[in-house]
Amino acid sequence: MVFIADLHIHSKYSRATSRNMDVPNLCRWAKLKGVDLLGTGDFTHHLWLQELKHYLKPVSGRGVYECEGVHFILSVEISNIFSQNKKVYRVHNVVLAPSFEVVEEINSALGKFGNLASDGRPILGISCYILARELFKISQDIMLIPAHIWTPWFSVFGSNSGFDSLEDAFGEYTEKITALETGLSSDPAMNWRLSKLDKYSLVSNSDSHSPSRIGREANVFNCDIDYWQIKEALEKKDRDKFLSTIEFFPEEGKYHYDGHRNCGIRLHPKERKQYKGICPKCGKPLTIGVLSRVEDLADRQEGFVPDSAIPYKSLVPLDEIIAEAKGVQKTAKQVEKEYLNILSVFGTELKVLSEIDEDILRKSLPAKIAQGIINVRRRQIELLPGFDGEYGKIRIFPEGPQQQDKRFGQQQITLF
Ligand SMILES: [Zn+2]
Ligand SMILES: [Zn+2]
Repeated sequence: MVFIADLHIHSKYSRATSRNMDVPNLCRWAKLKGVDLLGTGDFTHHLWLQELKHYLKPVSGRGVYECEGVHFILSVEISNIFSQNKKVYRVHNVVLAPSFEVVEEINSALGKFGNLASDGRPILGISCYILARELFKISQDIMLIPAHIWTPWFSVFGSNSGFDSLEDAFGEYTEKITALETGLSSDPAMNWRLSKLDKYSLVSNSDSHSPSRIGREANVFNCDIDYWQIKEALEKKDRDKFLSTIEFFPEEGKYHYDGHRNCGIRLHPKERKQYKGICPKCGKPLTIGVLSRVEDLADRQEGFVPDSAIPYKSLVPLDEIIAEAKGVQKTAKQVEKEYLNILSVFGTELKVLSEIDEDILRKSLPAKIAQGIINVRRRQIELLPGFDGEYGKIRIFPEGPQQQDKRFGQQQITLF
């Protein structure tokens, strides 16, 4: 069966997350979004683990759990902060496990390297190599996925905290890596520019801190909702079973361009080079974003598509489309009302955004909202790239909906 999986989220026990990140809310929102399989997040946290055990029922022999018709896969994100060769590294890694029994073993092993109770995303003072060694000592079933691999401060390729190669981080365990997570600020096309990543599946997850954000990035599989089938599909990069990913526009992510948030300086990699990486306002080194970092490590030109590439779709969350169509903030009450209205007709958000026929959208939705969804599908939008921790911005109706109509058929994104 075809299903949608979001493997990386956080619970209410992680820093800066919504108090509503609990199992009942996750179930409700998974159903609204159309996410069939959700990572639990934070399984190293004892209180969250208790809640998971209370709510989730095992699906026999499948390595996954279930609650109110939504499937769950046990997951956690580890923050590895360590020095190696006299440099400090900070790398986030997602870990998946097939059962509470394996989770208990992981927690007792990792508990030796940091305080697991302090945060749902625990900080451990061990290298990626040692993390992998400890995990695979416990079970070969465990999945290890370096998280949002390009973000500057907390990732394996991060400009401020990472490595130039997976081997430098994971050593002999590099070959045990299940997949790589592209993160919100990069999309598969950017990653296709590095030939050494060809052999890995590129997964996309929401890394959500609040229930309404789950599924904003996700993976589409065609197999049973089964831990080992998913693992095999990812490891083999099986294009019959790992069908596609759902992506943010990477420009919308917080670290796409280079710059300084406090100085209001936002630069394309080429402009950054002109300034030699120094902020023209404050004179300090700029925060180097994902696009620059990809550019630095890439061995292929922009636009290259490897034979083994898994396709993807770029989407904008429905509440953002509604809000812009109505000219209000996405937190406005009328946005939520319209959102729930639309879903009561069509079922799930991901269906509305990517599957429902344009004609049907036009017939059943307010004209401007239908147009907004269609504009996103045709990539006829304007983007103001994010930088130095500030989310990028999107204009879904760059020239007003009437004029927009004339340009249909073109494939273009404008940067504003
Ligand atoms: Zn992270
Ligand atoms: Zn500055």
